[in-house]
Amino acid sequence: MKNEAGVVPFVDLVTPHQELEEELVGVVRNVLKTGMFAGGPVVESFEKDFARYCGTEHCVAVSNGTDALRFALIAAGVEPGDCVITVSNTFVATVEAILQVGAQPQFVDIDPRTFNMSASALSEFLEIHCVRCERTGLPLHRKSRRRISAVLPVHLYGQICDMDAIRSIADQYGLFILEDSCQAHGAEYFSTRDGAWQRAGSIGKAGAFSFYPTKNLGACGEAGAVTTNDDELAEKLRMIRNHGQGAKYHHLIEGYNGRMDAFQAGMLQIKLRHLEDWNAKRRSVAATYNRLLEDADWITTPYEPTWSRAVYHLYVVQVSRRDELQAFLGKRKIETALHYPIPLHLQPAYVQLGFRKGDLPVTEAATAEILSLPMFPGLKLEQQEQVNEALQQFAPAQALR
Ligand SMILES: *Cc1c(COP(=O)(O)O)cnc(C)c1O
Repeated sequence: MKNEAGVVPFVDLVTPHQELEEELVGVVRNVLKTGMFAGGPVVESFEKDFARYCGTEHCVAVSNGTDALRFALIAAGVEPGDCVITVSNTFVATVEAILQVGAQPQFVDIDPRTFNMSASALSEFLEIHCVRCERTGLPLHRKSRRRISAVLPVHLYGQICDMDAIRSIADQYGLFILEDSCQAHGAEYFSTRDGAWQRAGSIGKAGAFSFYPTKNLGACGEAGAVTTNDDELAEKLRMIRNHGQGAKYHHLIEGYNGRMDAFQAGMLQIKLRHLEDWNAKRRSVAATYNRLLEDADWITTPYEPTWSRAVYHLYVVQVSRRDELQAFLGKRKIETALHYPIPLHLQPAYVQLGFRKGDLPVTEAATAEILSLPMFPGLKLEQQEQVNEALQQFAPAQALR
C-alpha cells in the first residue's frame, strides 16, 4: 500500500515501520534466540513498560483488544444474563465482548459534541429504567429484570469520556467501570475529583487496549492488553488468558487461549518509546486542521473540553451533506472514512437486542454527519492544505443550498 502520487492517504502504516526497520528486525532475531514465543520474558517486559506508561500497577498482555474487553468483563464478575451499559457508536468489538460473556448490551445515548457516552443519559437510564435489587443493592432493569453489573464507556476517536461524572454514577450504583481505551493510548483526562491528569486505562477499575496495527500504538499483527490497579483482578486476568491455569496443568477457573506473542510484545516495546512523539504530532495535525477550518462555519471541528488532552486516533468533523462531501473529496484523491456508518443498535446482527430507529436520537443524528479526515503522525502540511482546499471548493456549493 505504497502511496500513489497526489493521493492524501487516510493512514500510513508503511513509513513508521521503515523508519524503525532495523530495531524491529532486531526484535525478531532476539525472540528467535529465546525460543519463548507465547508469553515469556519479552511479554513481561512490555507489560511493565506499558503499565508504567498508563500509570497503573498492572498490565496483562493479551492477543487482541476484543479479548482484552471480554477477559476484563469476565474477571470483573460479569455473569451470563447480566446487563452492561455502553454506547452504540463504537467499533463492533465493544458489543461482541459483552455478548460473548453472555451479557446483554444496554445502549445509552452520547454527548452531541464529544460523541462519547453522555453521563446524564447514563444516570437517566439508571434512575428511570432500573430498580435496586433488595439483596445485592445493584440496579435491576425494570423490564427485563436483568442485573446491571458494569458500565463500559468508550474513549472514542482518542478522547476520554467525562470520567468524573461517570465514576460518581458508577459508585452510586456499585457498577464496575471498564474503559474501552482501544482508541485512546496516552489520552489524558483532568479529574477534578482527584486533582490530577489521568491516562486512559487508569481511571476505571480496568482499561482494555487494542494494539491493532492502525491504533495509536499498533503491533505488527494482533495484540491487546488490560490495565488495572487491582492485584486480584490482574491475577485473575493472567489465568483467564492462559487456560485458567494457576500452575501448569492446574486449571483453577475456566480460561481461554489469549496470550500475546513475544514478537508483538518486543515490537510494541520499541514502538511505545515513540508513542508520546506520535501523539504530539497527531495533536499538532489536529491543531492545523482546526486553524485551516476556522472560518468554515458549515463544518464542525472536533470539540476538546478543557479537561481533555485527546490523542486524535481519528479527526472527525461534522457536516450536513456528508455523503456528497465524501464523494467530492474522493474525486480529488483524498481518502476519508466513516466511524461508523451504522450505529450498532441498528446493525442486522443485533436486531434481536430490540432497539429501534429513534431510540438513540443523538447517536443517530451524529452517524449521518460524521466524516473522518486523513489523520496520522506523518501527515504533511501540504497534504492538510490539499484537504483544506478541496473542502473550501465544496463550500460554495454548500452555500447555494
Ligand atoms: C479496535 C477496537 C476494538 C477491538 O480491538 P481488536 O484488537 O481489533 O480486537 C475495540 N473497541 C474499539 C473502540 C476499537 O477501536
